[in-house]
Parts: sequence; C-alpha cells; structure tokens
Amino acid sequence: MKVLAINAGSSSVKFQVVDTKRRKFLIKGIVDAIGLPNSRINFELSDGIKFSEVNIETNVKNHEEAIKYAIDILLDSGISKKDIQLVVHRVVHGGQYYSEPVIITKRVMNKIKELSELAPLHNPHNLKGIEEAKKYFPRVKHVAVFDTAFHQTIPEKAFLYGLPLEFYTKKKVRRYGFHGTSHHYVSKEAVRIMKRKSFKLITCHIGNGISVTAVQVKKGKPISLDTSMGFTPLEGSIMGTRSGTLDPGIILYLLDKGYDKKEISDLLNNKSGLLGISGRSSDMRLLLKNYEVDKRSKLAVDVLTYQLAKIIASYTVALGGLDALVFTAGIGEGSWFIRKKICDQLKHFGVGLDSRANKKNGEVISSNKSQVKVMVIKTWEELEMAVEAEELLKKKRSD
Ligand code: ADP
Repeated sequence: MKVLAINAGSSSVKFQVVDTKRRKFLIKGIVDAIGLPNSRINFELSDGIKFSEVNIETNVKNHEEAIKYAIDILLDSGISKKDIQLVVHRVVHGGQYYSEPVIITKRVMNKIKELSELAPLHNPHNLKGIEEAKKYFPRVKHVAVFDTAFHQTIPEKAFLYGLPLEFYTKKKVRRYGFHGTSHHYVSKEAVRIMKRKSFKLITCHIGNGISVTAVQVKKGKPISLDTSMGFTPLEGSIMGTRSGTLDPGIILYLLDKGYDKKEISDLLNNKSGLLGISGRSSDMRLLLKNYEVDKRSKLAVDVLTYQLAKIIASYTVALGGLDALVFTAGIGEGSWFIRKKICDQLKHFGVGLDSRANKKNGEVISSNKSQVKVMVIKTWEELEMAVEAEELLKKKRSD
C-alpha cells in the first residue's frame, strides 16, 4: 500500500510516501523554517535504486502553504492523488485516550485539540496538518499515530510524579513519554536481529530530542515499561537545546529572580542542553570536532553521555536485567564516539563493544564476550506510522 505520512511540527512539515509492501519510500521531504524569511524545501526521490535530492529556497508563510508545497512536489514527482491509499499523521500527544493508532474523525480531531493543553508546542500544528491534508485527500482515510501511544503500558509506579495524587487524577499530570513510534520501530527491528521472542531491551533515541526507553519483549511483542521523557518532552537527559530534568526548585528560584513564563520556557526549550553548556552549538558533529580543543564542548558531551549511562543503568531496575541495548536517531546512529563513551560507563553490566564494528556503525556492535547485545538501528518513524495505519485499516475492514 502507498501511504502518505505527514509530520507537521511548529516550524516544519515533513512528508514521505511509503510503499509498505516493499518497505521503500518513493519520496521524502521537508518544508522547513515556515514563517521565517528563508524557508527551505528539501526533498529526495527514490525509484527504488536511484536517489536524487533537490533543495529550494523560498518563502513559506504558514502551514497551509507548506502542505500545498509538499503536495505539489509529490504530484510533480509523478505520484498521482489516486496512488495515495491512506494518509497517516504524527500526533505528539494522545494523552490517556490513545494507546493505538486511530482513524481520524471529527471527534478525534476534537480530542487532539483538547490535548493541546498538554502539548501546546505540538498538537495545534499536528492538527493544522490534518486539516490541510484532508482538503487534498478527502476520500481516503486519515489515521493518527501518537508519540505517546507506545508508552501507555508504563505502570503507575513509573508514571506517577511525587505530587498529591489529585494532580494526576484531576489534572492528568503524569509521565506520558514521547518518541514512541521510534522506540517501537527499533524495538521490533531488535526482535528481528536478536532472533529471540523474550528479552530485556533498552532503546536510546539520541537526536536533537533525546529519550531512553525500557522495553520488555514478550512473545515477540515490545512493551514499554519506563521512559525518560515525561509530562512534556523536556524531561530526561539534556538534549540539543532542552535542559532535561532539573531540580524543580530552580524554576521557583528563577521566578523569584524575575524571569517570566515565556523567558523560562525559552530558556528550558531553546537555550539549554548541549547548546547552553557548550555555548557553541546544539549540533553534535560540531561539538565532537571541538571535543579535544574546547573545554565547554567537551563538558556538554561528557554531561550528556554520563546522564544517558545513568538512565540506562536505572532501567535495569525496571527490567530486572539487560539483554540488549539499541542506539538510534542522528547521534545514536552516527557517532561511534558517543556510543563508546556511554558503553564504557556500563562495563560493570557486562556491556562490551567491538571497536571496529562500532566505528563502522555496524548493526551489531557488541563484542563476542559482551553479556549485552548492543545494536545500531536506523529509525524510520514514517514506515512504522504507515505500517501501523495500514494494519488498523485491515483490522477495521475485517471487523
Ligand atoms: P531530530 O531529532 O531533529 O530528528 P536527528 O535525529 O536528525 O534530529 O539528530 C540530529 C543530531 O544528530 C544533530 O546533533 C547532529 O549533529 C547529529 N548527528 C547526525 N549525524 C551525526 C554523526 N555522523 N555524528 C555525530 N552526530 C551526528
């Protein structure tokens, strides 16, 4: 089936047409810096063998225009509207309502809107993407896949914060977790690589956003037991520009010092993490280039890898052991140095790397002696979204 996957974020719209049967993409692209003076459109075509990449600089005023550009590019590439049999949308927050993908109806759209309260930086844009895409593809089904859905199996003891219980029961303040589609996809790939039906797995999504998940694989099915992002994607380790977990007292201190809500939000979301500590960049490639010569770049990398090792170690409690560790996303897939720095701090759990395989970004990078199989798996959220949406449709048809 050919499925159009749309990921409408605050300043970008990513799109991809996926052929689920052949597990290939036909076109993928991004309309970036929406609403800014130099918006960019980048897309890549694939006929299965050849790839060609195109970059355009233009002005894209809003999401309506961004979706129009995306659809125009898609049609220009030779894909017709009739080829698209299903549209799947990434929605960041599904709250406690959605543990599975869902066909988008008016009611579902209202729920996504209602959940904007929990994800004001994400859900409104996701919804806009749905509204616009429905105009171009009114006849096919549109499915929502939620970032939070995979983590709905996390037990209460892991998702509750230490606030009065009413904050959870009445105000829905709890850990939800994000990056679920990515963690789910790489977990399924790990099941294939491990050739085992039951094992204890930790998946590390290390990109601009960073999260770690404890996954119990049971009868071949991955089940999330704990995850490092929380009520919002701010929790967990430091990230590209996000602070990660802080002592909540710091927020009170900043309020006392006269910072307002907007300033604090900007500080925590856009000015902290790798960027804030290094004072240089949130781009890991740049920090690694300067690791030996710039103290602050080194510090940012050291803080991140220490925090990640600590989170991974803590998840051996959630799982009662550890059989496999997966690295994914830009940094996880691309940096042997970061993987080494993390794994070196986990030696006492029996984690050992094969340094040649690690340097080559091999699929399995642990040594023969390692008690934990360490893998590098390229994430592909759009394929996972498309496959989940197709499965939902098939199930509905057979009901
Ligand atoms: P997003 O979360 O926006 O999808 P990505 O998963 O693409 O982000 O990750 C972006 C991060 O990955 C950036 O910090 C980038 O520098 C880093 N990255 C990409 N390739 C490499 C590489 N080969 N080595 C180290 N870091 C890399």
